[in-house]
Amino acid sequence: MSKHTMDYSGRYTPADYVCTGCNATGCKLWRDYGMSLFELQCVDCACRASKIPVDVDEKGVRMGRVGPTRDIGWYVPAIPDPLLIGYLPYLDRPVDALDWWTRLPLRPLKSDAAVAQT
Ligand SMILES: [Zn+2]
Repeated sequence: MSKHTMDYSGRYTPADYVCTGCNATGCKLWRDYGMSLFELQCVDCACRASKIPVDVDEKGVRMGRVGPTRDIGWYVPAIPDPLLIGYLPYLDRPVDALDWWTRLPLRPLKSDAAVAQT
């Protein structure tokens, strides 16, 4: 068994699951739907880039123009694929993978931030 597979069962986040704007990690991240797959953004950076108020709940859901959505402008939930090669396509997200993303905190936990700075 390769160690380089995605574990959707807990709150594991891959080493490169980091916000490119502010280095936030261990929390929900979004990716640009149309651009580089690897440019990840945290809720605050994605909202700022999209000029959208930060009105996202802990589950990563906000009220969009047509109802509740996990999207922030052009940003969609960044969910690693099972082999950690890239991110799952927008319309192909297994329930366990989406549950993993939903389980992550909206922002880095204080303990994670402290570890990241050492
Ligand atoms: Zn950020």
